[in-house]
Amino acid sequence: MPSELLPPGPELRTWNGSSIRVSTFYSVAGISTSMFLDMPIGRIIMEAGDGCTRDLIELQRNLPNEEIDTKKQVESLQAIVISHPHYDHYSGLLNLLNFLHLMQRSRPIRIIYPKGSSPIEGLVDHFLSTLWEKCPFDIELIPVEDETEMSIDGWLFKSVPVMHRNSRPGAVGNKVPAMAYSISFGNDRVVYSGDTGEARSLEPFFKGADLGIVETTFARTPEGHEDVHLDINGSCELGSSSLEHWHVHFTGPSFNKIRETCP
Ligand SMILES: [Zn+2]
Repeated sequence: MPSELLPPGPELRTWNGSSIRVSTFYSVAGISTSMFLDMPIGRIIMEAGDGCTRDLIELQRNLPNEEIDTKKQVESLQAIVISHPHYDHYSGLLNLLNFLHLMQRSRPIRIIYPKGSSPIEGLVDHFLSTLWEKCPFDIELIPVEDETEMSIDGWLFKSVPVMHRNSRPGAVGNKVPAMAYSISFGNDRVVYSGDTGEARSLEPFFKGADLGIVETTFARTPEGHEDVHLDINGSCELGSSSLEHWHVHFTGPSFNKIRETCP
């Protein structure tokens, strides 16, 4: 494969707001996405893609002043938030839950996801039914639908439903339950598009956010894939309605083009 078609490799990116720090190592369409939102009161894992547990540990190696007591880190997890039931966004959940078990987390863990995401619920069932002993923590499943707003332990969660479909190169399938999310704490608001083809309708949600995280799958949207993902134009337009923005969920072509188009 020519190197310009290869997706980007793992690389730590960090955004430091005044109340929230956002970090990510890896976000590639069809492979894996995970992001870590750190607040003084604990951490939110946004998307449990393959390798999210590895990346959680890598934060300890790479971030200055990071808490190196893994047990404490595991206890301070506030929630796992998943945008939709596609493997590249939730397949790491099984290993993550197993890791929380190995570390003997004792507090309940929340998993927030779009209502109707039976693959996510099925994975949690699989974890609980195959565990060799009783799970030391409760799993609180929080399915959300429509526009939802919740205050959780001092941070504010909002969701907005978005259009997203099953797809592969050359074919588009059914709509899947999918959400965009906003997390606010202290002075910061971080919004994330999840996977979606909708740039325009999300603009009010992104407007004025301190950090807008936008999916950037296509260099240019292929015909018929308008409901599936954003391309560079849509992603830059949506991102620029926030005060600062990040692109995630790359392919090789979109990663290589984004820096010239949306510096
Ligand atoms: Zn998807």
